[in-house]
Amino acid sequence: MKKNWVGLTLAAMMLTGAMSATVMPAQTAHAANVTVYRVYTDATHTATQLEAQGFDVWETQPNFVEAPLTSDQINWLQQNGWSYTMSRNTSGPTFDSAYHTNTAVEQILADRAARFKNIATVSTIGYTYEKRPIQAIKISSSKLRSTDKSKALFIGGTHAREISPPEIMLSNMDYLLNNYGVDPDVTWMVDNREIYIIPILNKDGHDRVEQLMNWRKNTDNRWGGEGVDLNRNYNEPVNGVWGNPVYGTSTNPFSEVFCGPSAFSEPETAAVRNLVESVMGPTGTPATVPNGFKMVVDMHAYGNTIMWPWNWTFDVAQYGAQNDIAKMEMIGNKWAASNTYKAYIGAKMYYTTGDTTDWAYGFHRIPSFTIEVGKTFWPTNADLQTQVAENRLPFLNGVKITDDPYGRAGGPDSTGLNVSVASGKITLTGSADDSKSGSNKNRAVEVFVDALGVRGTGTKATLGNSTNSGAITSFNASISTAGLSSGKHLLIVESQDDSGAWGAPSAVWVNLP
Ligand SMILES: [Zn+2]
Repeated sequence: MKKNWVGLTLAAMMLTGAMSATVMPAQTAHAANVTVYRVYTDATHTATQLEAQGFDVWETQPNFVEAPLTSDQINWLQQNGWSYTMSRNTSGPTFDSAYHTNTAVEQILADRAARFKNIATVSTIGYTYEKRPIQAIKISSSKLRSTDKSKALFIGGTHAREISPPEIMLSNMDYLLNNYGVDPDVTWMVDNREIYIIPILNKDGHDRVEQLMNWRKNTDNRWGGEGVDLNRNYNEPVNGVWGNPVYGTSTNPFSEVFCGPSAFSEPETAAVRNLVESVMGPTGTPATVPNGFKMVVDMHAYGNTIMWPWNWTFDVAQYGAQNDIAKMEMIGNKWAASNTYKAYIGAKMYYTTGDTTDWAYGFHRIPSFTIEVGKTFWPTNADLQTQVAENRLPFLNGVKITDDPYGRAGGPDSTGLNVSVASGKITLTGSADDSKSGSNKNRAVEVFVDALGVRGTGTKATLGNSTNSGAITSFNASISTAGLSSGKHLLIVESQDDSGAWGAPSAVWVNLP
């Protein structure tokens, strides 16, 4: 049962003076062993208001947020008609041996660049406020030219105390590196995409977390406080939105959601912008840069949630985004179907302005997603491994659909591929599976040899029996081996549902005599 004012202290009751415009976070905000409260929200008491007031909101659910509270924040809640209750004491911050320090990550990246030099390139894309190198690893073979490969960007460690995302980034990186030449799907992806991974964007904050401090922002103290919230420091395309507390940020340098003095004032956000714009130019979009960046995922913790723009408003028509947002919703829902995360427009969590995805979509029209993983900032090793597993399929799907994210939104997977060769013919069987992407009936399956071709030009499969009300359909295809050299070939399969959407490609090898 919900109780009111359980956490009210004598000290808070005595604080009856005039309230400042923003309730300052306590000087002990970085201490260990924090007490977390539930603050209940409704139509007139919103998480966005709490953020604007300087509250350190850790998690948002439909009718409450979790946040540590100072005595003056408790007083402010009471004076303004809010309800809250003590939720739990955290044992964190923790940083045990399951997690990697900045130095360890640098060593891992150097190792991978050396061991996988044909498909891995590590570069320094900028330097943090404290001059630590911000590193990105690009995974791609040299089979195709860069201009022939669409590009995806995955970012971890924007918020330092959210310690799972860098580990998930490293795991997904190693999955691609270790399976190239081993798994046909991964091999196809690494040959046909450029996958950029920034394991830790906010390395200065990460350094504080390694010292067991509860640290979220970067450490830039030039603006009178102790750091800038990097996920409020990107830009917004609509005038009057960036840096405006009405839309989910704070201009108080001590706030955990302080936006900084101007968009891209921080070297970390500027490094991401410069990486993206090194390909896209200052104003490029997927329409004008055909094989540029077409997928951005910024991973945070916590909440088990997948989100897309806008983050500052529910009005999807802002900036003409309604059709794109409908497609991003389909992609987000598909990922959520694989890991049972919630999926919704970012504004539903609480308003934020100047976040990574509003900028990447708003300025470059790149389909962009925020994923909030897990149920705490400081998961145990076992919980971390669960999160790693939960985030594999969304990652692989995101990479696969990067050539045509909206065209493939809601399209069926091609699964259970099985291949045999006899009498000059390759027989391929499998299923078109739309059960996690809208559950439409399936219309067509096409097979290509060695390279994905123009739609309609591949070998058409024959559709067979269906289950799941038509959402899963078996197929078989017969491909002549005439003209194909002996040895290993890759078959690439894509399926289409009745809505017209093509799903992510899947690949399988065939050995010809
Ligand atoms: Zn975050």
